[in-house]
Amino acid sequence: MLIEPRIRGFICTTAHSTGCTANVLEQIRYVQNQPSIPSGPKKVLLIGASAGYGLASRIVTAFCAQAQTIGVFAGHAAEGKRTASAGWYNTAAFEQAAHQAGLYAKSMHGNAFSDEIKQKTIALIKQDWGEEVVDCVIYSLASSRRTHPKTGALFNAVLKPIEQPYSGKTIDVMRGHLLDVRIEPATAKEIEDTVMVMGGEDWAMWIDALLEANVLAEGIQTVAYSYIGPKLTESIYTKGTIGQAKKHLAETSKILTKRLSPIGGQAFISVNKALVTQASAAIPVVSIYISLIYKIMKEKKLHEACIEQMYRLCSDRLYRKDRQVLVDAQGCIRMDDWEMQADVQQAVTDIWPKLNNENIDALTDMAGYTREFYKLFGFKVEGVDYDQPCAVDVAIPSLAMQQS
Ligand code: NAD
Repeated sequence: MLIEPRIRGFICTTAHSTGCTANVLEQIRYVQNQPSIPSGPKKVLLIGASAGYGLASRIVTAFCAQAQTIGVFAGHAAEGKRTASAGWYNTAAFEQAAHQAGLYAKSMHGNAFSDEIKQKTIALIKQDWGEEVVDCVIYSLASSRRTHPKTGALFNAVLKPIEQPYSGKTIDVMRGHLLDVRIEPATAKEIEDTVMVMGGEDWAMWIDALLEANVLAEGIQTVAYSYIGPKLTESIYTKGTIGQAKKHLAETSKILTKRLSPIGGQAFISVNKALVTQASAAIPVVSIYISLIYKIMKEKKLHEACIEQMYRLCSDRLYRKDRQVLVDAQGCIRMDDWEMQADVQQAVTDIWPKLNNENIDALTDMAGYTREFYKLFGFKVEGVDYDQPCAVDVAIPSLAMQQS
């Protein structure tokens, strides 16, 4: 079947399996050309493993440290003429490549917030790996809603400022032009709900369940991903509802380190760079900042995508040869160091007030941003012939095995 992109708001409702496979293979090729990470983890559980930072973390730990991986993800399989989600195709491509390389890789499809998926994942770990084995848990979920597993309450996250309204620029990514936005401040309930979705409660529930089931190895490390960014975006990000959730995530890391101390484990926050992913495309203002930072960082030869960030996280921060985890004064791993470099941020500050619809293409990497957005769904990928039919119904090997 020939598959076309169908954009609705901040997402594309179709995905191209050949393009998604090409994206995954390109990331694998990148890490295979880097030095291996012999001190890396050996049995890794990734929560949010099918796209963005989670998928890149899975590729790095598998292909650079020869780790066995179990990846939990949401998304949908193909149904009739409806394509599967990009995450589904990415996971199929990852598993196939891992199996060809002789690496164990299985996936757990479903709602990571639920008790059911946690228990199924633990049962799989015990069945295939045994007890006291998981030495790394990567928490890379990005979701806009969560049903609480104990109370059944549904929480919706919002991306809003707190106390003051936000007025400023954002970008209509698909049309490539600037829009003026005014976003009213969040209510107290919206702030609480956002913390319930994007804060640390679910991460803690995973770690508690894994601890209780005795599947975590001595010295286990767990990492959740966060973002800080510049003053320019702070009213919508760090000082907004999502910032409150990320603050809760950071507090949770300290609590989890205490809970893991009897087995010598540690929990970290890794503050990553702003990048085009399905999650970040939905954040007003941040999208225009990303297209600007892409331009500046590419010119300064500092640009990284998810895979380069996650390779640097593993090789240079978490699993260094000297086995020291590099953190800042607050105990966070900083992968946003290049983004936050003074010269990069000075360029952002200089250009930002000048941006208008006439100069947006020249002053930002809008074209790069749009291309990356399409790529998330397998479109506009170099080397893929979109005039050729592509498979719609693609099986994920480990899920197909479970069903048969
Ligand atoms: P993404 O949208 O690319 O990936 C999100 C992942 O979560 C996918 O694998 C998806 O399947 C999974 N997921 C979502 N809801 C789920 C559910 N209910 N059950 C199971 N799986 C579910 O997102 P991303 O941008 O890679 O974000 C991952 C983390 O990194 C987030 O915490 C985000 O805040 C953080 N981060 C992102 C950026 C950025 O610019 N993209 C920067 C810094 C930090």
